[in-house]
Amino acid sequence: MVSQTADVIVIGGGVLGSATAFELADRGLDVVLLERALPGRQGSGTTAGNLHIQAIHTRRPGQGIAVDAARLVPLQKVASDLWEGVEERLGRPVEVVRCGGFTVAETPEDLAALHEKSAWERAAGIETEVLDGDAVRAALPQLGPSVLGATWCAADGYANSLLVTPAYLRAARERGARVYSNAPVTALARVGQDWEVRSTVGNFSAPVVVNAAGPWAGRVTQLAGAELRLEPLAIQMLETVRAPRFLPHLVQHIGIGLSVKQVGSGSVVIGGGWPAGQLTLGEPAPVVDENVAGNLADAVRVVPELAGLGLSRAWSGPLAATPDEMPVVGEVPGLTGFLVATGTYSFTFSPLWARTLAETVTGETPQVDVRDLGPERLLATAGKEAISA
Ligand SMILES: Cc1cc2nc3c(=O)[nH]c(=O)nc-3n(C[C@H](O)[C@H](O)[C@H](O)COP(=O)(O)OP(=O)(O)OC[C@H]3O[C@@H](n4cnc5c(N)ncnc54)[C@H](O)[C@@H]3O)c2cc1C
Repeated sequence: MVSQTADVIVIGGGVLGSATAFELADRGLDVVLLERALPGRQGSGTTAGNLHIQAIHTRRPGQGIAVDAARLVPLQKVASDLWEGVEERLGRPVEVVRCGGFTVAETPEDLAALHEKSAWERAAGIETEVLDGDAVRAALPQLGPSVLGATWCAADGYANSLLVTPAYLRAARERGARVYSNAPVTALARVGQDWEVRSTVGNFSAPVVVNAAGPWAGRVTQLAGAELRLEPLAIQMLETVRAPRFLPHLVQHIGIGLSVKQVGSGSVVIGGGWPAGQLTLGEPAPVVDENVAGNLADAVRVVPELAGLGLSRAWSGPLAATPDEMPVVGEVPGLTGFLVATGTYSFTFSPLWARTLAETVTGETPQVDVRDLGPERLLATAGKEAISA
């Protein structure tokens, strides 16, 4: 059993914890990262890995409150710029692919939504263009006749989620971070100026703790003595058998949960946030057959050539949902030095939240103002009206 001190203890070895450990270590801080099991196996190893640069559907199937896309778009632009430099900073490839993407509409209402979001995107510096159905089919003949229009965004793409988290961790280690796997944090206490952190591999203390426990972020906050309204849930993904290349771009939907892309192996990865079954943290949630069918029906209608491809697998992954479906990043009020980051699009936002957390820890003024996305709104005592407003 070890007993160690550090400047910062990061809890969770998913993409957010690993990226944060990297950013902190890169600034010369002494970092310990504690991972419950093996790094990169939970949300960060099951994710679609899409880089959400243009806005897409604002509700997963079954999701009550819509994402505030207008608020997120400027942050997506900053995240997009940061992804440009990730491979160089980490010194290794993570297969960032900017294949460009179409967000399609199939109803007149959704078409109007494309025009509205494209205005937000252009204001944020994201180049998007609204095309009508014929123009978009001329650009991407694989789209079906139900598509009435689409926005094109050349910056859309994805990264290989199986490479990103390990690459961040290796680069963090190279900068001195101490990384422990199979090291679940079991207790947290503020003692004087420090947090004392117990885990099965030993005890650690540091003035700052970053809670990057993803679906467990609510539970880890409870260990520190506060209640945040974070709900763990699981969503599912599909993958087809390999096929000759036919789909050069990412296809997503503005009105329904759908993302379709053909990856380097030739298989087509289909997502969109369709719910999996009941989640028990630490175990894969069951894949729900009727949601596989629903997701697939939408995918085949939008990209009819998919009809000829069999599915090779379906899987589920866990994430933490906030009541307003927006990300959360910042210090938990009442818990000095206890920071949290999780929520919507955590893969896309990982370089940005990692930088923001590192800036907060070192006392720099964060380059993006995300005070409205802080955890105070999620405190169990915070007014629910604030969330639904
Ligand atoms: C199926 C699916 C598809 C998605 N698609 C996209 C997408 O296309 N684009 C996008 O931007 N986002 C997407 N997301 C969201 C995003 O990918 C994930 O939310 C993100 O990867 C989460 O990263 P994380 O590091 O916060 O959490 P995780 O990757 O879940 O990691 C949290 C880690 O904390 C550890 N931990 C928990 N408790 C403790 C403890 N007590 N002590 C120590 N360690 C602990 C866990 O073991 C885990 O490894 C998707 C999510 C899912 C599930």
